[in-house]
Amino acid sequence: MRDNTAKEAFECFPYESFRPGQDRVIAFIAESLRKGSNVLLEAPSGFGKTIALLSAILPYAKSNNLKVIYMARTHKEHERVIEELKAISRKLPVTGVALRGRSEMCLLSEVHTQQDYRLSLELCERLKRDGRCPFFKRFLEKEKKLVQRLRHLMKQPLLASEIIELSRKEGVCPYEVAKLLLPQVDVIACSYMYLFNEPIRHRFLRFLGKDLNECIVVLDEAHNIPDVAIDSLSDVISVNSIQHAYEEALIGPISSEARFFLRMWRKAIERLSKNIVEDEGEVPRDLPFKICEEVCNASLSEVIFELEDLGRMVKDMLIREGKLPRSYASRVASFLKLWQYAYDRDDYFFVLMKERTSRGESLKLGVIALDPSPLIRWLSDSVHSLIMTSATLEPVDAFIELIGISEESASSLIVEPPYRRRALCLVTRGITTDFKKRSEAMYSKMVDRIVEVVQHTPGNVGVFTASYEVLEGLINAGLENELKGLNKPLFVESPDFTSRDNDSLIEKFKSFAHKGGAVLLGVQGGRNAEGEDFPGKEMMSVVIVGVPYAKPTPLVKARIEYYEKKFPGKGRLYGYLLPAMKKASQAAGRPLRRLDDKAALIFMDYRFATRPCRRLLPKWIRRSLKVLPDERGALARELVIFFRSSN
Ligand code: SF4
Repeated sequence: MRDNTAKEAFECFPYESFRPGQDRVIAFIAESLRKGSNVLLEAPSGFGKTIALLSAILPYAKSNNLKVIYMARTHKEHERVIEELKAISRKLPVTGVALRGRSEMCLLSEVHTQQDYRLSLELCERLKRDGRCPFFKRFLEKEKKLVQRLRHLMKQPLLASEIIELSRKEGVCPYEVAKLLLPQVDVIACSYMYLFNEPIRHRFLRFLGKDLNECIVVLDEAHNIPDVAIDSLSDVISVNSIQHAYEEALIGPISSEARFFLRMWRKAIERLSKNIVEDEGEVPRDLPFKICEEVCNASLSEVIFELEDLGRMVKDMLIREGKLPRSYASRVASFLKLWQYAYDRDDYFFVLMKERTSRGESLKLGVIALDPSPLIRWLSDSVHSLIMTSATLEPVDAFIELIGISEESASSLIVEPPYRRRALCLVTRGITTDFKKRSEAMYSKMVDRIVEVVQHTPGNVGVFTASYEVLEGLINAGLENELKGLNKPLFVESPDFTSRDNDSLIEKFKSFAHKGGAVLLGVQGGRNAEGEDFPGKEMMSVVIVGVPYAKPTPLVKARIEYYEKKFPGKGRLYGYLLPAMKKASQAAGRPLRRLDDKAALIFMDYRFATRPCRRLLPKWIRRSLKVLPDERGALARELVIFFRSSN
């Protein structure tokens, strides 16, 4: 390996001057790569992490012939990587591409509209195989010429939208064009799924042109990674899918034993559902094995094999009929395969969940991983270097322990945000969402204090509650009417919203930032409390109503027990307290997106001031947290002084 100095990294930094701390981060990353260690970097939003990371990584990666895979959650973040690469390319020749999912890049509407990646993959493969995708046909005809043209185009890093546009003009498939580019470029910006989801990963690695040990992987917003890994290792199906698989089995060539299994399995689950309390219950992990053994006279492996066969037949039939190749038998088979794998592992839990939506109640069956570390450790062992970055990684030692990478292999750096002068952090005494203390009087007091915050904030206000139950409690206690009196519209998020519904809600809310202000009501851990930015006047105060502890469901208890066994004395901390405080910290950080943002952060639950919660808040909040007395007007006094002095 060729050693690179921080000097080379500084030389490819494309802007006139560094923001405070950027030079320190660049030197730290360059040195960590030189030593061959993984990196954990906590730096505040608006710090300019992307450009600092790319400047530090690229000279090392290029001189050692390594590829950089920069993974982030949203398209906006992927595009930012490419924009920064374009800036760097003025100083250092560098190529890159932003990759989206197949259905998002596809030019055929029947694939483009598919949300389920399995279905879009299946559909695309069939269309290609049967010669029915004109864009793929033209791609094959033009492939050689395209390679020539791309060589020229690739001198500039390419946004996904640029690849789609170029391919549209040529009449070829954008996803195939992107695949053609992957082995050629220095940097790929893409979603976590390309390495975390097993089937997607296998395909991705085939086209990468490098082994994973020749890649530096950056995981942006890394506080999400434990949840991403848990989701990737788990699977959930609706119990209706088993019924649909049974219906497919009635028309397909399948043994009576396998058909009988589906019927008995569904019945057994429905019986179990009658006994579950709090909408969730444990399912005996030997249930499908017992049914096979006791009533079906077939092994589970034989049943899975037959269901896979049936699934293929059903898909062929649907394709011939011009329909989508969706088979429930296939879906149930892949779910049972995970069940079979997880059966004797203590890091899995088998659960039955009742879900209520506006469309009614549904039963879901889950094989849920309790521990994210096997997948993250595998990744860190497979790649050249793993760089994880976020604004909320603290406490770093707990994060390292949870994700399972060895402490010796990781260097960490925490960049203190400059918020202390620009953020007012308050806790209100006398208020709590503690279940035992919830009452009409408590909700009225919360509404009263929220109104006080809204009245004394010169811009928009965000209110993020501990749960939808608390959100409903505030509405029932008259929050909307009180705000009407102040002429401040209330925008309420809903779990039933589509992404488009939510985008439109947020756009309207933000439009009030300079028109007298409005209030957004959502939940901690929800999409607006985690994934949305509200800089400037878009959110000048944020109220965190209650500590978002999970309900003590069987799954939550299983996770606490699992961690207690793995890390004695820390089960409750890792399985219960830390996830809640991560949600609260994420929600509290929504208004502080740029280094010059100013905002009031009001923690409306006295428990935030107690030791178990306070020690898990980010250091910069912890140090300036002021506890207010339980009296009307205390919040108003603080807000008036803060906004007057910071204007
Ligand atoms: S080959 Fe490309 S354009 Fe054709 S279906 Fe697949 S993704 Fe869509």
